[in-house]
Amino acid sequence: MSRRQGDTGHERQSAYKVSAEPRMEHVPRGKPAKAGPYRQADFVVIGGGSAGVAAAMRAASHGASVILVERDRIGGTCVNRGCIPKKMLSYGASLASILSGCLAHTGGREDWNDAITRVTAEMARLHASYKQRLQEAGVQLLHGEASVVSPGFVQVGNETLQAWRTLIATGSRPTALPVPGGELAATSDDVFGWTGVPASLAVVGGGYIAVEMASILSRYGVKVDLLVRGPRLLENFDETIATALGEALRAKGVRLHFNTDVTMLSQSNGATEVCYRQRDGADPQHVHSLRVQAVLAAIGREPVLDTLGLDALDVARAESGNLRVDRQFRTSVRGLHAIGDVIDCPQLTPVAIAQGRWLADRLFARSSERPDFDVVPTAVFSEPAVGSVGMTEAQAVQAAGSAARIGVSLRRFVSLESRFAGSTIPSLIKIIYNARSQRVLGIHILDNAAPEIVQAMAVAIRLGLRLSHLETTVRLHPSVAEELFGPV
Ligand code: NDP
Repeated sequence: MSRRQGDTGHERQSAYKVSAEPRMEHVPRGKPAKAGPYRQADFVVIGGGSAGVAAAMRAASHGASVILVERDRIGGTCVNRGCIPKKMLSYGASLASILSGCLAHTGGREDWNDAITRVTAEMARLHASYKQRLQEAGVQLLHGEASVVSPGFVQVGNETLQAWRTLIATGSRPTALPVPGGELAATSDDVFGWTGVPASLAVVGGGYIAVEMASILSRYGVKVDLLVRGPRLLENFDETIATALGEALRAKGVRLHFNTDVTMLSQSNGATEVCYRQRDGADPQHVHSLRVQAVLAAIGREPVLDTLGLDALDVARAESGNLRVDRQFRTSVRGLHAIGDVIDCPQLTPVAIAQGRWLADRLFARSSERPDFDVVPTAVFSEPAVGSVGMTEAQAVQAAGSAARIGVSLRRFVSLESRFAGSTIPSLIKIIYNARSQRVLGIHILDNAAPEIVQAMAVAIRLGLRLSHLETTVRLHPSVAEELFGPV
């Protein structure tokens, strides 16, 4: 059902499940770039990634007519160049590393080509499934490049779309390495298209992608050097966990170089030379070099906004260059919303999905409870994995104003899985709590089970978890999670 000028309030109410509040006028005021018949919709969503699909499906479920515009494959970074292929490759490598620990005589190494074939098949299945679900929900999928020509009008090829509301959900892309020769570096987008792995690889960066890729690729037999600008891995994670992860990666053969500034990449004789300065070395100006078969830059992601024509509309930007939005994901232009990686928020798939669903509920059902965007569980899918929810020790101390007000419980143990595989790499569980009230402020875990555990603990933290709740909860044995509840 499309909205048309002249629809009555009564007609509009009947279109959606709940529509108690008065709506803003729904006919855009700006002039379209070109005259002519418009394809009309209540909601035009630009970008078919996690955020866009979630918002489109939810809006359609409320009876809105929705057009989703995507210029590439459906599913965005998560499905095509991120979470899904990464996690599948990690599974392959984890299984291989457990096997190689148990069955040392077999080598037990996962084959990259075979793994990529399975990953690609899963992506194809997901594309088909997304399209089917969108079709069943009644969302019209339009293939093409969209630009916002004026408030309420979107141009896709020869077609002009007119909508009551428009959503920018175009996501982000890897930031290029800003040094001479930086274009020689691959990014995470490229990795999932590799038909084989390089013998040696320099990974530049110390965040999620650098750590995950270094860990995954080293398990596929690649000799990995990880060049980190700062003094530690995973700047935004708890330091104890990040340090222990660094030791675990070293034990698994990844060579870590901290405090490095990469200054140049160059190519000769089929290899890439990485020049870098060691800030904490004897001579910080001395240029070191490393010859590797390939370089991977993982230094952050920037919003994809350049082809949308937003500058002509004067859409306000935040200092970061992302779109500025209010709590209801409204940009400075009336009727234009933005969610996901194009705004300042954690660049995480579930955050984008929650934003999309909440916005669609708000616009088309007016019946939704805002998700808690303050307690966001997150994981790094390295081996061992990191799971984290709530405040780190440093954040808690800063918020409390004194270390004395913060309690820390730290458990270090070797998991059964590790012992079975013949490894003594320790797992860690760190609980941060308010020393007076005993309320749990953060949980940080280093273990392959960490992502699953912190997802559940996020609920507990939101509900006001205290140490006494952990102490009086019966444990599940044997498990990694039981270490949360005190000594076994
Ligand atoms: P991150 O923001 O996680 O990390 C960026 C890293 O690159 C930091 O270590 C940063 O160092 C470093 N860096 C930045 N600029 C330079 C430079 N010029 N030279 C050298 N190093 C530099 O970015 P990622 O690219 O790893 O990931 C992007 C986002 O994608 C993440 O923030 C995350 O939200 C999301 N993601 C989530 C995953 C998950 O949920 N498992 C997996 C993968 C990605 P410094 O600290 O010194 O600035």
